[in-house]
Amino acid sequence: MPSTDIDAFKHLLGTSKHIIAVAGAGLSAASGIPTFRGAGGMWRKYDAMSLATPEAFEQNPSLVWQFYHYRREAALKAEPNAAHLVLSKFSIPDIRHAVAPSSSFTLITQNVDNLSPRANERVFAKHGAPPASEPPHIFEMHGRLFDVNCTNPNCEHTEFNTASPICEALKGTEKLVEEQHLDSDLPVDQLPHCSKCGALTRPGVVWFGEIPHDLHRIDKLVQQADLCLVVGTSSTVYPAAGYAVEVAENGGKVAVFNAEDTGATEGADFVFVGPCETTLPKALGI
Ligand code: NAD
Repeated sequence: MPSTDIDAFKHLLGTSKHIIAVAGAGLSAASGIPTFRGAGGMWRKYDAMSLATPEAFEQNPSLVWQFYHYRREAALKAEPNAAHLVLSKFSIPDIRHAVAPSSSFTLITQNVDNLSPRANERVFAKHGAPPASEPPHIFEMHGRLFDVNCTNPNCEHTEFNTASPICEALKGTEKLVEEQHLDSDLPVDQLPHCSKCGALTRPGVVWFGEIPHDLHRIDKLVQQADLCLVVGTSSTVYPAAGYAVEVAENGGKVAVFNAEDTGATEGADFVFVGPCETTLPKALGI
C-alpha cells in the first residue's frame, strides 16, 4: 500500500538528489483548462484521435484549427494556479534547498497550455531564475499551443504567436466547440498561414503518432532520478506514462498527486489524492 504520510514524504524529499516531476492536464485543471480524462474530461465531447493526429489535419485542417483555436483561447484566459506556482518556486535552488538540500529538479510537462512557463516568468521575476548551471527546469515534451509551425517542408518556420484570435475566420468559433458543432466548411485559405512563405500552418503541438520533444535529454534525467512526482496525469500516454515506472525500476521513489485514486501508477511509494493545487504546496512545504 502506498503511504499518504506527508512527514514521511518530506523526509524523503530532504534526502533526494535528482527530482523530476511528470505533469499532465490535471496540473492545469484548477486554472479552468479541461483535462482529457478523469472528471470533467473534454474527450467526452470530442474524440482525441479524430482531432489530434497528422491524418486528421491533412483531412480537415479547418476542424483541427477550430479545436486548437478553442484550446488557445481557453489557455489565454487562464491563469497559473497554486500547483504551477509551487513547481516554479521549487525550480529555484535557493528555495528548493530549504526542503531538499542537495537536489536538482526538472519539470517534464505534457501540457501545451503555456501555464507553467507563465508561472515561471512570474516567480523568476520575483525570486530570480535558476542559474544556467542547473539542469533544464522545464521540458514541454508535447509542444506548445502557441507555437505555430509552417507545413511547407522547405520553410518549416516556427513562431510563438499568442494572437487572439489567431486569424479572423476563427474568431468566435470556440463557441462551436462548446456546442459540439464545428464548422466543416471554413475555407482553408482563411486559416492561419506562414508569415514567411504563405503556406498553411499547424499548431505546434505533438500529435498522436508524432515524436515528443527532447526525448534524449528527458531520458537522461529519468535514468538519473531518485524521486519522481507524478502530477495530474492519467499516465496513459507514452512515453511520459513510463517515466515513473522507470524511476521505480532503477530504485527511485514515486509520489503521485492526483484528484482521483487512478491506480495508474502501480507500486507508487506515496499517493496524495486530492487537487494538486492543494496537495502539492502542502507536500513540498515551500
Ligand atoms: P488526462 O486528461 O489523461 O488525465 C488528467 C488527470 O488529471 C486525471 O487522472 C485526473 O484524475 C487528474 N486531475 C484532474 N484534476 C486534477 C487536479 N485538480 N489535481 C490533480 N489531478 C487532477 O491528462 P494527461 O495524462 O496529461 O493526458 C495526456 C495528454 O493530454 C497529454 O498529451 C497532454 O498534452 C494532453 N492535455 C493537455 C492539456 C493542457 O495543456 N492543459 C489539457 C488536456 C490534455
